[in-house]
Amino acid sequence: MSNIKKRFDHIKQRIDQALESNERLLTNPVSLLAVSKRHPREKIQALYDLGQRDFGESYVQEALEKIRQLSHLDIIWHFIGPIQSNKTRQIARHFQWVHSVDRLKIARRLSTQHSENALPLNICLQINISQETQKSGFSLLEINAAVKEIMTLPNLALRGLMAIPKAEPTIDRQRIAFRQLKQLMQQLNQTHNLNMDTLSMGMSNDLEAAIAEDATIIRVGTALFGAREY
Ligand SMILES: *Cc1c(COP(=O)(O)O)cnc(C)c1O
Repeated sequence: MSNIKKRFDHIKQRIDQALESNERLLTNPVSLLAVSKRHPREKIQALYDLGQRDFGESYVQEALEKIRQLSHLDIIWHFIGPIQSNKTRQIARHFQWVHSVDRLKIARRLSTQHSENALPLNICLQINISQETQKSGFSLLEINAAVKEIMTLPNLALRGLMAIPKAEPTIDRQRIAFRQLKQLMQQLNQTHNLNMDTLSMGMSNDLEAAIAEDATIIRVGTALFGAREY
């Protein structure tokens, strides 16, 4: 059996186990975003051939090349990396999801630049949930005002929240930040009368904790593709 098939099966097992031990099996599915940054398109093709459709990329130039080369496949492309404002036009044109919207200015630009006759661009707001100074994302202090404006922007579908919490050694400690993100989404939905339905949280090392706190999209790179190649 190929390496990638083994890894793919193993991740699916980890997801199923986490769902079962939290009795989430029937209520609330979780989808797997395969993070293919720094991996060649051959690996994307291999995972696609096994049935995977959602792929995540973090670097615009690298991503655009893969999107062009694989344009014959019905892949759903998610942008998950840091966003410079001079790259928003290409992101708005070529991706169906953006998980890493971290400032108002970026949301405004994506809204303006996303072509109006296409489906709305699905976005998640990145939250600096562990309140680390070096990490990007909206702070807990500014998120309410930001949501108030972003929910009115045309061409965007505000789907939910994304976070990359700081690393923690145990599953119980990992769950704290994920729980905070979940509660923040509930609070924002209530305050602004919204229906955000997406919690993009959990990576190779903490996906069990994220699923236990109701993640709806987990973003997995290394555990699927191995160490990044370039
Ligand atoms: C690289 C990356 C991932 C995947 O991380 P792994 O630890 O390789 O699973 C997930 N989310 C974001 C935002 C990333 O940049």
